[in-house]
Amino acid sequence: MSIRFFNTYSREIEEFTPIDPPHVKMYTCGPTVYNYAHVGNFRAYVFEDLLQRHLEARGFQVHRVMNLTDVDDKTIRNSRAAGEPLDTFTRKFKDAFFEDLRTLRIQPAADFPAATEPRYIERMIAMIRELENHGIAYQAEDRSVYFRLSRFPEYGHLAHLNLDELRPTGRISNDEYEKESIGDFALWKAWDEADGDVGWDSPWGRGRPGWHIECSAMAMALLGPQLDIHCGGVDNIFPHHEAEIAQSESCTGRKFVRYWLHCAHLMVQGQKMAKSAGNFYTLRDLTAQGWTGREIRYVLISVNYRLPLNFTFDGMTGARSALARMDEWIVRLTGLAASENLASAHPLAEQTRFQEALDDDLNISGALGHLFDTIRESNRLMDQQQLTPGDARALLNAWEKINYVLAFEACAPEIPAQVQSLLDARDAARKRKDWPASDQLRDQLAALRWDVKDTKEGQRLTPRPL
Ligand SMILES: [Zn+2]
Repeated sequence: MSIRFFNTYSREIEEFTPIDPPHVKMYTCGPTVYNYAHVGNFRAYVFEDLLQRHLEARGFQVHRVMNLTDVDDKTIRNSRAAGEPLDTFTRKFKDAFFEDLRTLRIQPAADFPAATEPRYIERMIAMIRELENHGIAYQAEDRSVYFRLSRFPEYGHLAHLNLDELRPTGRISNDEYEKESIGDFALWKAWDEADGDVGWDSPWGRGRPGWHIECSAMAMALLGPQLDIHCGGVDNIFPHHEAEIAQSESCTGRKFVRYWLHCAHLMVQGQKMAKSAGNFYTLRDLTAQGWTGREIRYVLISVNYRLPLNFTFDGMTGARSALARMDEWIVRLTGLAASENLASAHPLAEQTRFQEALDDDLNISGALGHLFDTIRESNRLMDQQQLTPGDARALLNAWEKINYVLAFEACAPEIPAQVQSLLDARDAARKRKDWPASDQLRDQLAALRWDVKDTKEGQRLTPRPL
């Protein structure tokens, strides 16, 4: 079976065939580092993580790039309000972002280019020059450089806009604008007082890049002129991704992206998330309330990415109990499989349905449905003592592959150094058949609230519940 995705560009489900299999070039618009990212932002990043992990599970080698927007209207505005230099100000939000990715178990991208790195600024300037040489970019009286929309008739295709009806007029210098005010967009913004000490010298004078050219330049610098997959949230479609297409394709004359995948909105308790509505949550707000990263990951991942996700605390509670069921199932299987290294060929360990659901435009509800069916059915068989240790081993092997994609498994408890050294000493004692020493070490471990069991695979350590 092939992998299929809904391509925003064609509005159709298409079979996925990368340019140079098994390599997949994937670009994902990253955070604007002017604040802590909120759960809505993370929904897109978790979806992209699921996409990458599934492609990897299917044998592809994914080169993913995620940019960091560390200069734009918002970063400049907020750094000035905070009275900090731009790089000092954005550094703390970059660090926080990387920490948040770890909390949510999102695999790091291969590259995290930041817009202000000199090599990328050079690249942006070079692209704008190229566009200017072709008469597509022009410097206006306000000294900023704009993209001449009339030179790119396909503008609006991704967002399915009809430019004739919209009658583009004038120019727009801000990074984000509404469909109604369509017009020539800024590639390079001439310095003005609001920019403070932020600016770079260019052939058009001191200024800074527009947000859209940042992504085009960094994507092509790291992945070449053509990408297999470009992702983002639906609010990136217009104008950001539309502008990326116009800039990139006007420079290269080639199709920029083969598959555009966009993640739908996140609502909170049925409402649009807004600071004024009191329902605005950063990841940190949620962990401060005692929710774990994997519970939040579960909630963000569990609704198909093209459907709006309604984030609720009932949903968080549901995630907690779903994960507890999963944990309990794994403990049970592990206990049963302890005496067996050889996996049977039990049909329940077959994971084709899980994979095929994800092949179908990342149908996560289908995939999770299959997983919970497997959990229910194998628990029933264990209740009836109809599952052999080899069957349990087969299910654990299947789980390992599924967990590579979902990253839901509870982390192994951390073993304190003191406990580890007692465990090592006991292992040595057992090897020289010094049973009294072994027993004494077991008692010492028990006094530290750690139980040790001897199995065929060696010592198994479990923390005693408090
Ligand atoms: Zn972008």
